Amino acid sequence: MRITVPAGGVGAARFLRGLKAEVPGAEITVIGNTGDDITLFGLHVSPDLDTVMYTLGGGIDEEQGWGRAGDSRTVLSELAAYGAGPGWFGLGDLDIATHLHRTSMLSAGLPLSAVTTVLCQRWQPGVRLLPMTDDRVETHVVLASDEGERRAGVGTERGGGTSMVHFQEWWVRMGAQVPATGFVFAGAEQASPAPGVLEAIAEADVILMPPSNPVVSIGTILAVSGIAEAMRAKTVVGVSPIIGGAPVRGMADKCLAALGVAASAAGVAAHYGPGLLDGWLVDEQDKAAADAPELAGITVRAVPLYMSSPAATAAIARAALDLALELHG
Ligand code: GDP
Ligand code: CA
Repeated sequence: MRITVPAGGVGAARFLRGLKAEVPGAEITVIGNTGDDITLFGLHVSPDLDTVMYTLGGGIDEEQGWGRAGDSRTVLSELAAYGAGPGWFGLGDLDIATHLHRTSMLSAGLPLSAVTTVLCQRWQPGVRLLPMTDDRVETHVVLASDEGERRAGVGTERGGGTSMVHFQEWWVRMGAQVPATGFVFAGAEQASPAPGVLEAIAEADVILMPPSNPVVSIGTILAVSGIAEAMRAKTVVGVSPIIGGAPVRGMADKCLAALGVAASAAGVAAHYGPGLLDGWLVDEQDKAAADAPELAGITVRAVPLYMSSPAATAAIARAALDLALELHG
């Protein structure tokens, strides 16, 4: 069986671990979000690709959800001693080796997709991990006002009442506490899907959407030209990242608010729409979503959605796959 999964970071990686355990024989292709990528100290950092790679490869810091287990911060503290910033982005020493290797291969002219394949030769994630594109796409956040920026102690990039910052600066440095009014996926329209991405969608039996951030993880992937269109032709089942009106972790509610989308299981499904989504898993406490008129055309099923243990996570993956296979016919 061929399963293709568009993926952000932590939510996706944990879901994928459950899916692998539940369907060991499946050929799983992961289309990773690269809108969160950022250049730090000259190094190309791909947080979402690495979270998937480390989690499935057994190297993840389980508690944190990202980065390497047992990592240290010697390099970062040496940089701080030079006054070299930014100081707000955590980079462990072990993790830096990945970024050094990635950056040197990119500098030698390899595309990110080929670089990711090389990195995965070490980690053996057991899935084919593809970046959504080899082109540069960067998620920027439109902030409500200069005032918001001043409160956060951030310099203003341009005046006139709005300003933009890199997604990581908003998410990590500001903790998403400065209200956003929109997101710009810079470069997405001009970007081409990476080699193998459209094929993996077209040839998939089903597409499963993990409980990733609908705006800055899945939304970015869908913004790359051709990807959303290819997915609409397939059977797509998604897992809600929102339970009981709040994200299970992170600040997806702040992202949804910027788009005027309700932070609810039904709100997210309506945002994706019946053109894209065939089936939608919601948590048992959100089972009323099944009767929401705005979800007409989407088959909603309520199951426990907390990925609280390997068994619970595998059961979520099984429920998503079963629904997809039923709808696929
Ligand atoms: P990020 O790139 O690291 O932020 O990771 P993702 O975009 O892949 O996933 C983030 C989303 O995962 C958040 O919106 C969370 O609400 C969601 N999430 C995390 N843990 C769980 C869980 O146990 N169950 C569900 N349903 N969603 C979860
Ligand atoms: Ca991310």
